[in-house]
Amino acid sequence: MEQKILAYLKEHETEIFEDLKSLVLTEASTSDIEALAKVREKLVMLIKERTGEDSFVYEAENGHCPVRFQYGKGTEKILFIGHYDTVHLIGALKYYTEGNELHGPGVYDMKGGLISAIWTVKAYKDLGIDPGKRLEFIFNGDEETGSAESTDIICELAKDAKAALVCEPCTANGDLKTGRKGLVRFTVRIHGKASHAGNAHKEGINAIEELAHEILAIQKLTDYEAGTTVNVGVCSGGTKPNVVPAEAEIEIDCRVKTAAEGDRIRKAINEIRTTVPGTTREVIERDSKMPMEETEANMALFEKAKICGEKIGLKFSHQFVGGGSDGNEVSALGIPTLDGLGAAGDGAHSANEYILIDQYIPRIAMLASFVLTI
Ligand SMILES: [Zn+2]
Repeated sequence: MEQKILAYLKEHETEIFEDLKSLVLTEASTSDIEALAKVREKLVMLIKERTGEDSFVYEAENGHCPVRFQYGKGTEKILFIGHYDTVHLIGALKYYTEGNELHGPGVYDMKGGLISAIWTVKAYKDLGIDPGKRLEFIFNGDEETGSAESTDIICELAKDAKAALVCEPCTANGDLKTGRKGLVRFTVRIHGKASHAGNAHKEGINAIEELAHEILAIQKLTDYEAGTTVNVGVCSGGTKPNVVPAEAEIEIDCRVKTAAEGDRIRKAINEIRTTVPGTTREVIERDSKMPMEETEANMALFEKAKICGEKIGLKFSHQFVGGGSDGNEVSALGIPTLDGLGAAGDGAHSANEYILIDQYIPRIAMLASFVLTI
């Protein structure tokens, strides 16, 4: 089966790369709503042209409308997840090939993966392969800014899925992603009392002094062995050197491998006792993303993908990576999730983004054969 799919995709290599080019050259960063609509139109058109399926476009208040389509029948469902927004401003990156590298805005993260998903269906259709399950595809337009308008939709679709497959790119060395760190951001604000630093030093309550104690305590919550990092990244406070500062605040970024570690950090930051008498503190939780824990179910999916890869001549392992994706929240629901099933390459979010041309077709063949083993 693997060889049959691979041979089919190789035969259609020219069309696949043409589809990729046309989708990559329809550019839009997450904030460019008008251009994003054009990417969506292009995507809906490609889906129809290649798979014969109509897409459903969700309404979204701020215009980052997710696109959904499905293929195949069955009681079981597999959810494919991807995003059509990129971090690049229009015209910032050129589209060109250099040796085995195909460069372009969003080609690696992750328009390559969208075309992989579409051509998986196209291969099934043309080869008369019945996946035996309902394949559902959800492509959102706000992943790069945290998926505010799509997380609920994705989680709702994932709830009854047998597996969730994230078509984000694999790691730079070709590994799939079986775990992703979660994220919590906090602001800690300290309130003291202002006074004249010369005439009434004793009457003041120094918010910066309190914050200094807290910064040291908070930084110490880092536990590299557990994969937990805590970073006080922004610090501000006070008004003038001759005023005892009444206000001061810090912004904190925490990354965790498990939900339990997230809870430990949350509790510790909330429960810090003030050191400087008279100060009060406020803890505000900003963004948060659940970790995609490296569960047994995620690992079982990886093992299947690995076998399919080997049959096609692809060798890869798996990694627990620092950055998040839409797979995080889905995996946290207990749905077996595997990430990194898109293109191979490097340079996500940089001016040097590219995919490896010779790996592109085999990676699609791996995805298409792997789905049949789930
Ligand atoms: Zn991405």
